[in-house]
Amino acid sequence: TITTDDLLGWLRALADAVHEQAGHLTELDAAIGDADHGSNLDRGFKAAVAAVGEMTDTPPGKVLGKVGMTLVGSIGGASGPLYGTFFLRCGTSLGETPEVDAAGWGAALRAGVEGVLARGKAERGDKTMYDAWAPALEAYDADLAGGGDLSSALAAAAAAAAQGRDATVELVARKGRASYLGERSAGHADPGATSTALLLQCAADTLG
Ligand code: ADP
Ligand code: MG
Ligand code: MG
Repeated sequence: TITTDDLLGWLRALADAVHEQAGHLTELDAAIGDADHGSNLDRGFKAAVAAVGEMTDTPPGKVLGKVGMTLVGSIGGASGPLYGTFFLRCGTSLGETPEVDAAGWGAALRAGVEGVLARGKAERGDKTMYDAWAPALEAYDADLAGGGDLSSALAAAAAAAAQGRDATVELVARKGRASYLGERSAGHADPGATSTALLLQCAADTLG
């Protein structure tokens, strides 16, 4: 199961990983966007970790809700509302439960991604973060259905997200700033799909 302590550990690891990868994420965004994805997320997750640092006696769902509000307020751009909505909806799905089991976490991830879709209206193949989220959700559920546990489902989701990220290289962007480039957006990985794969790899490393 996942407790509030586990979640706080994940968020700290994620903020560290985003900080470490900020240069790479910004380079990807420089190729097909406006070169701010790394700095956007670095600022946002740093603020989120600071905002929830003292919430050790708060249920996981409330912690994620606070993360979502903080991201919306501190990132801006496309990814602020998208990641913000992801964490808000994840948190709402968890409600007040003090410990989250594998099925509950899968449902929360799905609710979060539905929020991303409600906001961004992306479809699969549009070269967005959804191209990492969609295969990750499928892999997570398939692993559990096949008898896996939280740890194996998180690992399967992370691997599928990384594949989804790699598959965005050849795609032409149809949403977000990268879509302004048309065909010239092909040949580069999508920054948001790359940060989503990072988020899920950190989840596998810390929540599994
Ligand atoms: P901005 O484009 O406003 O500068 P960021 O650079 O932080 O914001 O984030 C860009 C990322 O946001 C893209 O790489 C893409 O993955 C994601 N994105 C943009 N628009 C959408 C959308 N409509 N649906 C899903 N994801 C999107
Ligand atoms: Mg950008
Ligand atoms: Mg921007």
